[in-house]
Formats: sequence, C-alpha cells, structure tokens
Amino acid sequence: MPRRFIILIIFALCACERGPTLGPGDDNSLATASQADCGFVQNSYGQRVSWKKNIPVTLKIHPTFPPEYEDTLKKAAQHWNDVAGMTLINFATDSAGSPNKAEKNLISTVHWLQEWPETQKNLQALTNLYWQGNSLYESDVIVDAKYFNFFVDKPQNSNDIHLESLLIHELGHVLGLKHRSTVPSVMWATLQGAAIRSDLTDADRETIKCEY
Ligand SMILES: [Zn+2]
Repeated sequence: MPRRFIILIIFALCACERGPTLGPGDDNSLATASQADCGFVQNSYGQRVSWKKNIPVTLKIHPTFPPEYEDTLKKAAQHWNDVAGMTLINFATDSAGSPNKAEKNLISTVHWLQEWPETQKNLQALTNLYWQGNSLYESDVIVDAKYFNFFVDKPQNSNDIHLESLLIHELGHVLGLKHRSTVPSVMWATLQGAAIRSDLTDADRETIKCEY
C-alpha cells in the first residue's frame, strides 16, 4: 500500500511556514527521477506534486463562506484559469452539511472560519494539500475570519486584507504551488494589510505551465 503524504501550507503575515510532513514512500515513486521544482511543492523524491490529469479541481464552497464574497473567490480562480488557458479550478456548492473545518474527507472545500486558534492568529488563511505519489487528491482552504477583516474594493483600515489577493495565493497552493521569495510572484509568503497583489507575474505564468 502506498503511503499518503500530507503537507500543510500556511499563508502568514510573518514569514513562518509549517514545513511538509513527509513519510516513507512507495517503490514506484522511488523509481522515478527527481524534477526541477518549478515553483511546485515536491514529494520526498523531488517530484513535482500537482493534480496531473485530474483537472479541473472542483472546490466546494462551504455554506459558511459569505455569499457576497463568492464572486471574489471565482475571480481569484479565473486569474489562474486565464494564465493556464484552461479551467484549472471550478466551484460547487457544498450542500452535504459537512463540518466547518479542514478535514481529510476526499472532498476539497473552502471554509470561512469565525473560530481560529489564538496561537495561529497571525495567519490570514491556510491551505492543506494531500497527495499520493506525485498526484494531489484533496485540498482544503480555511480563511481566518476571526482575527482578520477583509475588503474587496477599499480597506476600512490599514490592517484589512485584500480578499482577492489572499484567495489568489491560496488557490495557487490548491494547484500545488509553494511559496516563492526570489522572484515577483503572488506566492510570496507575506501579504501586508491593505496591499493589493492580484496580478499574476511572469514567474507565476511560467510556473503554472510546468504542470498544466
Ligand atoms: Zn501561502
């Protein structure tokens, strides 16, 4: 039985990042050579992790996600769809009455959380990725609506977070992207209050084409 790997990726105001938790893999993975990361998360054998042929990813919108922000969520996904020239992410309504937490259940979901651990109150959002071998099979996004306020057009104060910019970043993680720090990118680990970073860069475009 192949083991499953899990990674937690955190979008934080600080540069702190929880690294991947990696376990032993299967022999098939061992037989494959490592690859250049190209901006993607890699498994313990250096292979890029992505959805491969299982595109588009369907993200369920949990009922807690504010309806007035659904257009912003879809707009964020459209940035990635546009640079890929194909639909990478689409959305469905989560009507199953699932709990409002990021749980591993083979269903990728976006949650809006009013409860958030104080120990992680510097995190604006968090994306969990689950993969087997080099293929993602689930991703869950949780947004910290306890410690942060969000804006669409204009911030009310300097700490407010531009929701579209935040969601572009988190959806980048959903697609398998990791943080960048050496090139202009929407995948920088830090998004300052009131800042708008909603234009994908050349680096983001090149990255996405490595896998999609
Ligand atoms: Zn991040």
